Amino acid sequence: MNTLECTIVCFKQSGMMFPILVITSGVLISLAGYFAVRDNIEKLRFYWMANVLALFNAPVVYFSMACDMLFFLKLYITYAFLVLTGIFISPHLYRYYLKKKYGYERDVELERLAGLERVYLLNTSFPRAFTMGRDVFISAGMLEILDESELMAVLYHEKFHVLENKTPFLNKLKFLTFLPFSQEKIEKMADEYAIRMIGRDPLERAKKKLEEFYG
Ligand SMILES: [Zn+2]
Repeated sequence: MNTLECTIVCFKQSGMMFPILVITSGVLISLAGYFAVRDNIEKLRFYWMANVLALFNAPVVYFSMACDMLFFLKLYITYAFLVLTGIFISPHLYRYYLKKKYGYERDVELERLAGLERVYLLNTSFPRAFTMGRDVFISAGMLEILDESELMAVLYHEKFHVLENKTPFLNKLKFLTFLPFSQEKIEKMADEYAIRMIGRDPLERAKKKLEEFYG
């Protein structure tokens, strides 16, 4: 018997076919929701729901194994373990690196401006802005080259990342499920959010300034 035949026999004997089919239908329904709704944040919620449901299948498949553990399952468990370790550790390492290399501190004024929970001012002349978990980082260099409306555009772009990142841990589960995912699309959604909040011009100007700086 090859792996595929063995897997099919395993499932048939386990009596878990039904829960697996139910969960898989849930995944498909969530993906349908993703395409059906218009609001970007809601879209991403459906995408995460599909991911979480897809992940439910892993233990069900695992416990349903009637025959010896299959090679691909061992491989997946190793992969999942490494990814989960990375998800837990890497943000802490990166924060530590940022703190050591540049230093950063909270900026309540920027938090107030964009209605953000936490904004950190990064002490470097390179213009940078990014979001880690629910924390937004923006550099002194960024404040230097942008006027106020351009700065707001950048902050709103990052705010979208905070909004779509309501549960940073669950958000990362996409690496475990292999459902198709496009960071480029999320960046576009973040831009759309910024445009809705402050208008297209400031965002385009901010992008142009960044291109000029790094180009
Ligand atoms: Zn972004």
